[in-house]
Amino acid sequence: VVIPLMGLGLAVYFYSAPDNFSEEMLRGKRVIVTGASSGIGEQMAYHLARMGAHVLLMARTEAKLQKVVERCLELGAASARFVSGSMENTAFAEEVVKEAENTWGGLDMLILNHIGYSYFNYFDGDVEHVRKLLETNFLSYVAMTVTALPMLKESEGSIVVVSSVAGKAGGPFIAPYSATKFALEGFFSSLRHEFIIDNVNVSITLCILGFIDTDSAMRVVSHAIRAAPSPKEECALEIIRSGALRQRELHYPPSIVTGMLLLRGLAPDLLDTLIRSNVIKSTRLEA
Ligand code: NDP
Repeated sequence: VVIPLMGLGLAVYFYSAPDNFSEEMLRGKRVIVTGASSGIGEQMAYHLARMGAHVLLMARTEAKLQKVVERCLELGAASARFVSGSMENTAFAEEVVKEAENTWGGLDMLILNHIGYSYFNYFDGDVEHVRKLLETNFLSYVAMTVTALPMLKESEGSIVVVSSVAGKAGGPFIAPYSATKFALEGFFSSLRHEFIIDNVNVSITLCILGFIDTDSAMRVVSHAIRAAPSPKEECALEIIRSGALRQRELHYPPSIVTGMLLLRGLAPDLLDTLIRSNVIKSTRLEA
């Protein structure tokens, strides 16, 4: 069942994805990337730099951001700077966007990518952890969008929201994380409707990612997941490409994610069984 569905997924994905992307599309564009000190966000910063964009990078760890900024300048960024702080605080989320306004006087692309730490284990009943994670992974995305919207309307720009297959179908051991990713889909797909009704020419791209080989994902879940991870460098490029092309959704890796989503509509119980069989059962770890 899985192999033909993956084939069908791939066919549907490529049939529906016109590919007239050019790296020139990003030259001189003003782009915020959140969660840019490591992982996929760091790789997006490097791609954007090579393409000649202006980048404003955000995360908590100043020393790492400083290094990423230096590398971006070496790679040819039109300009590169960072703001450090925690997205647990929505006032900080607004501050990051204000920094773009003060520096550039406008914004073309807002890439929302950061996530706070969560455990990979049975749900432990900690409601406060869920609340905090919602603030970091969801509410800060909303706050940044609200603050950036006047600039994005003016530039007819783009919002790129990095989500996960866990924001489309639940899996074991990730209840708080999965909840924050489902929230993103609900909020941003509703907003997309309103933009269309109101003739607001700001695109919203939701990126549905499978397992990617970032250091943090490898550390937290690689021991417990049977699937092979996909490369973060390629994933980062696909996110930028889908945002520039103003696509509604990115599925990466395409065959696995599109296949999963097709199966979710056709046979959700079978999909759940496959998801559980992909997770190694002895995962009753102590945090
Ligand atoms: P990483 O853990 O590598 O990067 C997370 C980034 O967020 C870092 O730059 C981190 O920097 C920053 N961050 C963490 N906490 C905060 C905070 N409180 N405030 C501000 N920034 C913070 O993650 P990935 O690159 O693996 O994931 C990137 C995106 O891709 C996420 O949205 C994730 O859900 C999604 N994704 C990833 C998958 C994977 O397998 N890797 C699978 C599916 C989706 P610092 O610690 O310096 O603050």
